[in-house]
Amino acid sequence: MSSILRREERGDVDRITAGRRVVGFAPVTSHFYRVGTVLVDAGPPNRVDDVLNVLETEITDVLLTHAHEDHVGLAAALADQGARVFAPEPTLEVLADPPSLPGYRRQSWGEAKPVDACPLESEVTTPAGTFETVPTPGHSRHHLALHHRERGWLFTGDAYLGTRDNLRFDEDLETELASLRRLREREAGRLLPGHGSIASDPEAALTDALDWYAERAREAHELRAAGGSLTSIRREMFGWEGFMRWFTGGEFSKTNLVRELLRLPSSLTS
Ligand SMILES: [Zn+2]
Repeated sequence: MSSILRREERGDVDRITAGRRVVGFAPVTSHFYRVGTVLVDAGPPNRVDDVLNVLETEITDVLLTHAHEDHVGLAAALADQGARVFAPEPTLEVLADPPSLPGYRRQSWGEAKPVDACPLESEVTTPAGTFETVPTPGHSRHHLALHHRERGWLFTGDAYLGTRDNLRFDEDLETELASLRRLREREAGRLLPGHGSIASDPEAALTDALDWYAERAREAHELRAAGGSLTSIRREMFGWEGFMRWFTGGEFSKTNLVRELLRLPSSLTS
């Protein structure tokens, strides 16, 4: 198992990538961003000490998009150093008293230390400017994206994950797609996600994702209308369940995605 830690300068934003590579498997990493003395999301708990070493700046504010452990890792350590931590209001309880996690999540990311955070209101003013919150439920119920309107930056956390062949058991795809449409209404020149590549044309990236899901939903509905079962539709569209289902004990699976595609209205258009 080897560690991954990168800091890349992207204009006035640093993208930090932290995680690990388990030999033979795809790396598990998450991105978070530093704008001046402000962090948007805070990486995984098992890389806290290494990340503190590469930050090289005092952090005054930490803005969390949601409470999943791969996004909140540094929050407690930075709060101890005097940073203000902000998070969606309904997640404050879980951040103050994190639940114990299934083995694969502990192994991949580690468990976050408790942190007392302040609620993210409709906007938050920081030394790096004002960030507006965009309600983006679906991936998690209380997810908020952060829009730095002045700079045209859209920090999307896990609201935008591109296209995928699996879904977490508790993801609500219909709500997730409504959130992507809400993000598309924002004027932005850069989309900065928690996983995957930065997009320089957010509108196009969001439209591509919405079109892809609409097309997959049409396919799934057609196969269902022809008498297909959940399993046969999954096999036809995405093949056998693979690594993710095995590694996560079924929390992520292709079957979850097909089930959610079938719940989407068949008239869906992007
Ligand atoms: Zn997440």
